Amino acid sequence: MQTLIKIPENKNITLDTMINLYLDPLKIYIPIIKKEKFKLNTYIYKNTYFDSFIASVSGKITGSKKVIVGKKTLPALEITNDFKENNNYKISKKKIKNKEELFNLLNVYHLTNILNKIKGKELINFVVSAIDIDTYAYNELMLLTNYAKKICDTINELNRILNINEATIVIQNTAFNAIKNLTSIIGTYSNINIKLLADYYLMGYDSFICKELNFNDNNTLILSINDIYNLYNILFKGNIINEVFITINGNAIEKAMVIKTRLGTSIEEIINKLINIIDKDYEIFINDPIKGVKVKDINNYIITNDIKCIVINKKVSLEIYDCINCGMCYKVCPFNIKVIDNYNKKKFNKKCNGCGLCNYICPSNIDLKSRVYGGKNEEENN
Ligand code: SF4
Ligand code: SF4
Repeated sequence: MQTLIKIPENKNITLDTMINLYLDPLKIYIPIIKKEKFKLNTYIYKNTYFDSFIASVSGKITGSKKVIVGKKTLPALEITNDFKENNNYKISKKKIKNKEELFNLLNVYHLTNILNKIKGKELINFVVSAIDIDTYAYNELMLLTNYAKKICDTINELNRILNINEATIVIQNTAFNAIKNLTSIIGTYSNINIKLLADYYLMGYDSFICKELNFNDNNTLILSINDIYNLYNILFKGNIINEVFITINGNAIEKAMVIKTRLGTSIEEIINKLINIIDKDYEIFINDPIKGVKVKDINNYIITNDIKCIVINKKVSLEIYDCINCGMCYKVCPFNIKVIDNYNKKKFNKKCNGCGLCNYICPSNIDLKSRVYGGKNEEENN
């Protein structure tokens, strides 16, 4: 039986209760997948799609640079914001009647992650998760706390469109503000329930949520609060999704915050404008220090949909010792991988999802994940 772990919060960190806005970046970067050529000074309208990436502001192409997206390094166009919000993408807003119309709309809005979760499933259960997968992120909770009514209205609408009787919102039982806010309005939504789950690392993964609720993964739709907020924007407002929420956290900054910003914005620009770093000797992680990557140069990173959190921590150098055979890496692994055996045999394991718990728990500070996951904890040299 796997041992579940609670990651202690850093008590020195205070989190802003409001969502901070950074919606007028000086520049944005658009990664280019196909080998197309673009001329300098070409005008780019806001909300133009380039494969799955979007121009979140309007302006001219003023240069290019390489950016890291997931595990890939891609060339990216640099667009200098003219702050005119010139937009050539119009979508008419109409009431969605059924699943098929919703699928079309999700296609048009490039929300393929949500589309893939709904399409082809015979849905019985509908769950909305307010649990941030990254321990140091507070995006889902902050969205629920700030927009509880919009979230519940959208869940109601989805229940109608998808023909589902009721939905369950899952929240960690330690999220007192979000729970208080939600319980004050939930009485008016007869088809939405709340379920509190224990505050363990990995509890936000779909498989853990289904296990806790005794639901079958195959007929359960799990969307995040952020997905619902995006659906609110397309169903009720007809807005293109070019904004995202990220948390900047860590013990080397003055104040942690959740920020609403534009896709493609340079992370370095956001840090320079909004964050007060109080320790000179710091290190930066993309998507938390446990399962994320330690970056060598933050200048290579832009805001993309898969970045939920940036952690700026005081630098620590860990002494590495020999394995003491305590077995903890095996006990915490959600996939029961014989972690130390894989590590010793220098074998990566396909089941490993890179959650980083083995590294976190190891008293000898051995970097097990880098070998078992087949990746590196530090950004790879490209
Ligand atoms: S990183 Fe991989 S091996 Fe380590 S605990 Fe997570 S799933 Fe298991
Ligand atoms: S947790 Fe570390 S010390 Fe313990 S068995 Fe695993 S590798 Fe060895």
